[in-house]
Amino acid sequence: MIQKLQLELTTKCNLSCEYCLKPPLVSELDKNAVEKLSGVAKKFVLYGYGEPLLHEKILHFVKALEGEIVVSTNGMVDENFYEVAELVDVFGISLDVNNALRHGMELSKIFRKLENLKGEAIAQIVLTQDNLPNFPELAQRLAERGLDIMATNLIAPNSEIYSKALYFEGSRANADFLHVDEDFVLKILKARKSEPEELKMSSKVNFCALLEAKDRVQRAKKSEEIIEKVEELAKSYGVDFVKPKFFGEADQRDCPYKDSLFVRADAKISPCMPFAYTHNEFVNRRSIVIREHILGNLSEEIDKIVEIKSKFEKLRKEMDFPWCGDCGHVAGCWFLENGMDCYANKPSCSNCLYSAGIAKCLI
Ligand code: SF4
Ligand code: SF4
Ligand code: SF4
Repeated sequence: MIQKLQLELTTKCNLSCEYCLKPPLVSELDKNAVEKLSGVAKKFVLYGYGEPLLHEKILHFVKALEGEIVVSTNGMVDENFYEVAELVDVFGISLDVNNALRHGMELSKIFRKLENLKGEAIAQIVLTQDNLPNFPELAQRLAERGLDIMATNLIAPNSEIYSKALYFEGSRANADFLHVDEDFVLKILKARKSEPEELKMSSKVNFCALLEAKDRVQRAKKSEEIIEKVEELAKSYGVDFVKPKFFGEADQRDCPYKDSLFVRADAKISPCMPFAYTHNEFVNRRSIVIREHILGNLSEEIDKIVEIKSKFEKLRKEMDFPWCGDCGHVAGCWFLENGMDCYANKPSCSNCLYSAGIAKCLI
């Protein structure tokens, strides 16, 4: 049995968030396709690139699917809101301090809804440079109402959004050499052949990233301090707080989609949300194309799709991918430009911010 099956019920949405990676075409899963999946997975995660409460059969699905049910909504659809919240095991509501990037969101409307919500919910927020200063205040309002909180960093579709990001993709070992200047770098590079210590350091540290991204490293460190305060606040209110990481540690990576599948609203199946659609991602200080990785279609037998998935499963269980955040070649890598990585993996998870815990999702 699959552990988690994420179902993108619809790609329709009533909001227009600037960081959204939603595909341009609108599609919807049909009732029969969803019903046939009941019992196939332990957990059903009902959201994707679109607003699940806009699917007219949402209530039917949460009743019909056997297994643990997770729903994540943007909180701006009234129909079925309370009914779904009461029926599911985990109810997530995405929000922000204002609608500067989440166009169409009204925080006051979401808070009014929270007043009448019975049962538990988890508030989700995408952290940016713009909203971080006001995040502790928002977290306090949410914690006062007993909501758990999940904060994530953004996945940037372009350089403009990337400039609002709070993380540094390199490891902390990289960041701890922040005092480097060009003379220091030249010294290390020259010593590569003779000095074992420098050799060790030079293979671990992405000097180019450090020289170019000092301000991003400082920002990541400051963000951690604010997040620690929110963590203490959450503890004092007795609510859970899921926080993102702000540095990418290669040896701590873990795929949140292990033993899971993502079903697109057009019934195509991919291993995870990042591989669902071809899209541009601005990561590691440059834009790359992440190509969709399709394993099959809902019209096929699900057993066959699970078999196809297993070829990729071992790789992501062991995270047998390089971590591009620590690599000095990342700015112009031939492998990445050709849809693979330097371990010959195709597709590759070598830039996945979810695997590094920098991005978090409700799955
Ligand atoms: S609410 Fe979600 S799906 Fe809708 S525009 Fe925003 S990020 Fe995209
Ligand atoms: S590591 Fe990231 S890209 Fe790779 S399978 Fe997991 S979620 Fe998908
Ligand atoms: S895929 Fe390219 S950027 Fe990534 S680690 Fe390998 S050589 Fe470096």
